[in-house]
Amino acid sequence: MDTIETHLAARPAHVSREEWKVRVDLAACYRLIAHFGWDDLILTHNSARVPGTTDQILINPMGLMFNEITASNLLKCDLDGKVLEPSEYEPIYAGIVIHGAIYQSRPDVQCVIHTHTEADIAVGALEDGLLPLSQWAMRFYNRLGYHPYEGVSLDMDERERLQRSIGNHPVLVLRNHGLLATGRNVAEAFSLTYHFERSAEAQLKIQAAAAASGQKIVMPDPDTSEKQAAQFEGAIDNPRLGGQREWPALLRLCDRLDPSYRS
Ligand SMILES: [Zn+2]
Repeated sequence: MDTIETHLAARPAHVSREEWKVRVDLAACYRLIAHFGWDDLILTHNSARVPGTTDQILINPMGLMFNEITASNLLKCDLDGKVLEPSEYEPIYAGIVIHGAIYQSRPDVQCVIHTHTEADIAVGALEDGLLPLSQWAMRFYNRLGYHPYEGVSLDMDERERLQRSIGNHPVLVLRNHGLLATGRNVAEAFSLTYHFERSAEAQLKIQAAAAASGQKIVMPDPDTSEKQAAQFEGAIDNPRLGGQREWPALLRLCDRLDPSYRS
């Protein structure tokens, strides 16, 4: 099935080709998060900036499971949560606070993924956070922000603190809460989410095995961790967007699971 053609097959006339592609990718992202078991009932939220805008985003309608999200039922909102196109749904307000904070301070970010998983929360609750104990994790070496828990994010004044916590990092660990991964497109944000999740799961197994066996954990030297993280980023003048090679395969997986996300 040709990806571009199927992207366009169900596009409403009032939606640009560029926006529809982002809508399909974001809907696929929701389905993938559900497929891998990283969803949390109707909670958490993922978003993408509307192409060609600075202050408009696409985000999930409150009340839908992730496997009910489609390209056309994503809400278009401004950064204050005002719904810009008619819909029977509202966005999740905490999502507007958190995602809006990132889009305000980071013009490079086009997609934000927020998850609550047991592994992410467990690693984020450890004082040292994520350690470079696996190839997955080394990608994040010195490239993670940490944000202390303040309760459910319902206060707009938390935005400034979220912005300070993430700085220029691609990923923010929300302590005792979950994860926030950003990307220059949906595929990159998904790749970071996937790598962090696998990193966290591996770390917890390593630490449990070390505690049970009394063995010391082998920690790669800092230069190796830095080298590997830089390899993932590409050259400064030619940055590499993670996740691009596997994204078409992930869309094919979504097509096999349930192609309704494209509608
Ligand atoms: Zn949350």
